[in-house]
Amino acid sequence: MQAKVVIVGSLNMDLVTRLPRLPRPGETLAGQSFVTVPGGKGANQAVAAARLGASVAMIGCVGADAYGQQLRDGLLAEGIDCTGVTVIAEQPSGVATILVDDHSQNAIVIVAGANGQLTTALVDSFEALLSQAEVIICQLEVPLDSVAHVLKRARELGKIVILNPAPASAPLPAGWYPLIDYLIPNESEASVLSGGLAVDSVASADVAASALLAAGAAKVIVTLGAQGSLFATRAQSRHFPAPAVQAVDTTAAGDTFVGGFAAALAEGKSEAAAINFGQIAAALSVTRAGAQPSIPTLADVQGFAS
Ligand code: ADP
Repeated sequence: MQAKVVIVGSLNMDLVTRLPRLPRPGETLAGQSFVTVPGGKGANQAVAAARLGASVAMIGCVGADAYGQQLRDGLLAEGIDCTGVTVIAEQPSGVATILVDDHSQNAIVIVAGANGQLTTALVDSFEALLSQAEVIICQLEVPLDSVAHVLKRARELGKIVILNPAPASAPLPAGWYPLIDYLIPNESEASVLSGGLAVDSVASADVAASALLAAGAAKVIVTLGAQGSLFATRAQSRHFPAPAVQAVDTTAAGDTFVGGFAAALAEGKSEAAAINFGQIAAALSVTRAGAQPSIPTLADVQGFAS
């Protein structure tokens, strides 16, 4: 089956420790539990799009180690085309060390490892996958020149282009904006991209979105955690409230939203329907622990919506 949603991005093993509160510098705390969970924003979004109904292909890199094998096998078990997942001999698989406290706050350190080896030449070797796609999604956990290359190629191929600018440490290069159909930052990413505007409400998200539209993005969706999301174009902006749920672990909420939104768009759903669908999926994901294990299926979302 041809992949309608193609994700170019990271695969990480998440090393997750739960503890009462986040440690201060120099402090040693006793944690309550430890698990390894497949993650990485690229892989999470691929799993989300696949569980939520799309045919999906992943382009990325893992190390020649046990984590790499587990990450690839995990995606294959979801029915994801992994011909674009390359094993890099000289690097470890990407890992994310994640601390989650009793209030569901988290702190995360990522070592890119093999993810850093996704070169433009490697991306070009999977042109056949890119050209099959309806929707192409990138994040910022692989080399930025490769992201720029994919955005440009995706635009040339006439695809729907989604950039989830995560993690964001600086404003995006100006030349990227015209290449993006849907720019989907969370609050802190919207703040960084807009040059430091505070983003913590629907109103402030609207201000930041206006700045990103002025920079050249066609459409912006700022995700606002429990406050839902703000969808903005040059013509209008609209707040989509999130379904009310009991949050357990917000890891991968944004990834679930992006994957669900893309799967719905690839199905031909309207933007508003795709945003609502993504938000139900993301709300369900925060009621469960972990990254990929927390991502719901199409049946879960249909069950919630009915
Ligand atoms: P990220 O995980 O990237 O920080 P957000 O926290 O903004 O992203 O969450 C993404 C989406 O997930 C939100 O737009 C919302 O739809 C959903 N979401 C996140 N947290 C909650 C919550 N506590 N209750 C309901 N939905 C949530």
